[in-house]
Amino acid sequence: MHNNYYTIKGCLLLLLSILAPLVHAANQVQSIRVWPSPDNTRVVFDLTASPEHKYFTLDKPDRLVIDLNNIKAGSSLPVVSGETGLIKTIRSSTDNNSMRIVLDLTKASKASVFALPPTPPYGHRLVVDLPDNQPQQNIPPAAIRTARDIVIAIDAGHGGEDPGSIGPSGFYEKNITLPIALQLAQLINRQPGMKAMMVRTNDYYLHVNRRTEIARGQQADLLVSIHADAFTSPQPRGASVWVLSLRRATTEVGRMLEQTERHSELLGGVAEIIKDSANERYLAQTVLDLSMNHSMVTAYQVANEVLAELGKVAHLHKKEPQAASLGVLKAPDIPSILVEVGFISNPAEEKQLKAPTHQTRLAQSLFTALKRHFEQSPPADSLFAQQRAREHRVSAGESLSLLAQRYNVSIDDLRSVNQLSSDSIRVGQTLRIP
Ligand SMILES: [Zn+2]
Repeated sequence: MHNNYYTIKGCLLLLLSILAPLVHAANQVQSIRVWPSPDNTRVVFDLTASPEHKYFTLDKPDRLVIDLNNIKAGSSLPVVSGETGLIKTIRSSTDNNSMRIVLDLTKASKASVFALPPTPPYGHRLVVDLPDNQPQQNIPPAAIRTARDIVIAIDAGHGGEDPGSIGPSGFYEKNITLPIALQLAQLINRQPGMKAMMVRTNDYYLHVNRRTEIARGQQADLLVSIHADAFTSPQPRGASVWVLSLRRATTEVGRMLEQTERHSELLGGVAEIIKDSANERYLAQTVLDLSMNHSMVTAYQVANEVLAELGKVAHLHKKEPQAASLGVLKAPDIPSILVEVGFISNPAEEKQLKAPTHQTRLAQSLFTALKRHFEQSPPADSLFAQQRAREHRVSAGESLSLLAQRYNVSIDDLRSVNQLSSDSIRVGQTLRIP
């Protein structure tokens, strides 16, 4: 029975392999995945081979039509409906060896349609990006508020079509970064004077340039990008924190490109600078170095704070901030750090990173570090700065009555807030100002 089966199967395979060049490897759509995000909907068709496709749009009603050629006869697709605000339905019809896929849209969208080669865990794909042109809402100018919140943009690495690195048990990096990011946001939002904004709020893909754009649109004081590391061997472990370096960009980009494509999508404009001639590169870097100086210094300070806290709850891969030219770090006006919370490629650490208790500890340590940094160096117009100003370190020649006058408070209030039994104060003493 089994022998016969295998013989028949063997014959079929042989027959197919002879016929294959004649048939020209008919393609098949295996599945459709829809990834909605606030300003873009991505639809991914999983295929058995590289697609031969054409597309065009129609209006009244708005539609995107994709024609796929060389499709295996008899192929069909399930109808997809009601997935997103932008797509009403996705339907298909076949004719001989071609398939027509129609996306019924709720409004016009400037679609881009492109093929992607296989990248584990996915095979050949045809990707449709449908931007939804609702402008990102910006925070009203800080000037109309007396003391503003410090805005932390939190970027959960990867998402949607891009799983990030994959652990030995098959766990995706994108599914570690999001819960940590969400918990960090929650802690920040509970802190008066601080406000979190999530760069991506759910499981969808965002291009790296869009990530920094969103942070900029929200006038973020800091961008924290959360990732998990991976290596080709299972040994490396521990967390690390990355900051932007332009001086070392050439070698860093080279090194990153040589590695697997785990962070390839994060390489942005800096790689473009390097493509230029040596002279232009020198100029571009000098200009960028000047404008980035403040952001980079801040990022470096924050990175050190984060390492100090992470070291209490996790093994550290590197005890110093690491310099890289990862695209998400390159926003010139926003201090940016990239936190690798551990190695997903290390079996023990993958297990740890999956555990909600560990994710909570990581989020808590990030929060503690960020809070401490901004308490020590608050932006001038922030509530943190205002609160900090309500402390006074006594200098020579100052008296309680002088300070009461300067801060426009009563001596009694000064006395009671600082639990003073007399009016004598000493130089160097820190007084709270009510
Ligand atoms: Zn990553």
